Parts: sequence; structure tokens; C-alpha cells
Amino acid sequence: MTSIVVLGSTNMDLVAFVDRAPARGETVTGREFRTIPGGKGANQAVAAARAGADVSMIGAVGTDEFGARLHAALESAGVDTDLLRAAEGPSGTAHIVVDDEGGNAIVVVPGANGTVTSLDHGDEALIATSDALLLQLELPLSAVIEGAVTARRLGVRTVLTPAPARQLPPELLAATDLLVPNEHEAAALTGLADPRAAATALLAHVPEVVITLGAAGSLYAARDREPFTVPAPHVRAVDTTAAGDTFVGALAVALGEGLPAREAMAWASTAAALSVQREGASSSMPYRSEIDAAHDSFTGREVDTV
Ligand code: ADP
Repeated sequence: MTSIVVLGSTNMDLVAFVDRAPARGETVTGREFRTIPGGKGANQAVAAARAGADVSMIGAVGTDEFGARLHAALESAGVDTDLLRAAEGPSGTAHIVVDDEGGNAIVVVPGANGTVTSLDHGDEALIATSDALLLQLELPLSAVIEGAVTARRLGVRTVLTPAPARQLPPELLAATDLLVPNEHEAAALTGLADPRAAATALLAHVPEVVITLGAAGSLYAARDREPFTVPAPHVRAVDTTAAGDTFVGALAVALGEGLPAREAMAWASTAAALSVQREGASSSMPYRSEIDAAHDSFTGREVDTV
């Protein structure tokens, strides 16, 4: 079984649904409130576990009641939490206002995530036994860099989702095997709006890039071969929250099982397409049996070469 370690964030998403978001100084009455376990790290961990990998999570939850729920959510998804730390104080939270047009405004308070500034006892040994280390940018950069550099030294594939978008330090890029931005992050990183141009620019820093393009699918680029796109299945999307995390989790599993990039991306696209047809973040992520069953009906599609 593919073994994956995620070094990343856990957040409790505090979501208020409103007709119209409040302006500064204004109070509006919301329709509904939900607390949903999330965080990009935890979401990728759940996605990879459901897609069929053996997954361990390195990160931190707080000692508040959210921490207990975040921990339990990972456990119930089958994610190993032995090295998930409990940091004195509040858990990470994401305060999200979703308006009627599907737009949202988000404040993330790192909480316990902010205490993960470096690897801890046991982390390196765990990374050493894995096929891939998944990283995002919701932990302090010092830990992300140390994780990537450590995995690189151990010969473990590093997969970096550069979100939330920010400039990346050269030592992080130098330790990244596969960079998976969405098209907005790719544009923010390179200043190039065209995904193909952005991918080419990113190849100066990392050997392989997959840019996700929403309903348009995903674009692959590597130094030694022609770029190509893999289309996304046509589906009716009801909630695209965490589509990217579902894609990355499934992609890492497929690559870990030895699938070539094109096939791995197609399988990950099937997983993400299933998730966007359901509401929620981790709750919408498909299980391996569902991905395999749906994938059979999507295979045989034409694949564009760009
Ligand atoms: P993010 O969620 O990070 O913003 P994207 O919007 O690019 O990333 O979505 C990630 C992946 O999810 C896409 O590459 C695609 O495979 C899938 N996806 C997203 N939106 C849709 C959609 N409307 N229909 C089908 N697949 C989708």
C-alpha cells in the first residue's frame, strides 16, 4: 500500500451562510452556521486515505474542544495521528462567510498550526518510511522547508501545494519534486496568467508541475517532455470546496502506486469530479471504490496535447 505523510494544517472551519456579506461596521443576520473540520493539510490527508493510501499526519491541534474534534475527524478517516501534536491553546480556525452568490471571505487564525515551526522527535523516521510527503503553506515556512529538505535527503517524493499563494523561498523550491498550484497560484507565483507559460517558468525551479484548471482539468509539465492537459469529467458541480486537496491526495496515491503522470492525473480528476458533486470539504471526498467505479466510465476519453 502506498504510504503517505502529510505535514500540514488542521483548522476548524466556522462557516456562516448569509444572503449578502456584511460591509465594514455592518451586522447582517445569517441563515445557517456550521463547524466543519478542515485545513489544507488535514483535507489532503483524508483525501489520500480515502483514495486508498496508508496516511500519517504531522501537525498540531489545540487543547480546546475543536482540537479534540479535529483529531477525531482524522482518526475516523483512518489517518494515523500518532505524531499529531497537541499544542497548549486554541486550534487553527478558518472564519468563513459564504454569500448567496457562492462568493466567500475567509479569515484564517493559525492557532496551534503556528506552533509547528520545525520537525519533532519521530517525524524524520516516519517520513523515511513513506513514498511521498505532501506539503502546503498553512504551517510556518520553517517547518515546511525542513520537511521538504528532509524528505529530499531521504529520497522521498515531495509534493507541494503552494497555497495560500505566496512567494516561495529558493530552498523550498529546490527540495520540491512536484509542484501542484491551481491556475491562480501559478499566476501569483510567476506573474504569468497563461497556465502553459506559468508551467514553463516554474520548470526553472522544480522538475515537475501539475497546474489544476478547475472544470478545464489539469496541465502537466516536466523538463524532459512535452506538456499535456488531462480534461476533467463533465459533471454538475454543487460545491468545489477542497477540490484541489482531493485532487492532490488522489494524485499522490496514484503516483505512489506507479501510475504514469497522465493516468494518475486522470484518476485524480475522477476523484475531484466526484467531490465537487457533493457538498462539504473532507465529507465530500470519495472512497477508492467510488473512484475506481466512476473512473471506468470516464476512461477512453480523448486527451488533448497542448
Ligand atoms: P482549487 O480547488 O485548489 O481551487 P481547482 O479549482 O483547479 O483547484 O480544482 C482542482 C481539480 O478539481 C481540477 O483540476 C479538476 O480536476 C477538479 N474540478 C474542479 N472543479 C471542477 C468542476 N466544476 N468539474 C469537474 N472537475 C472539477
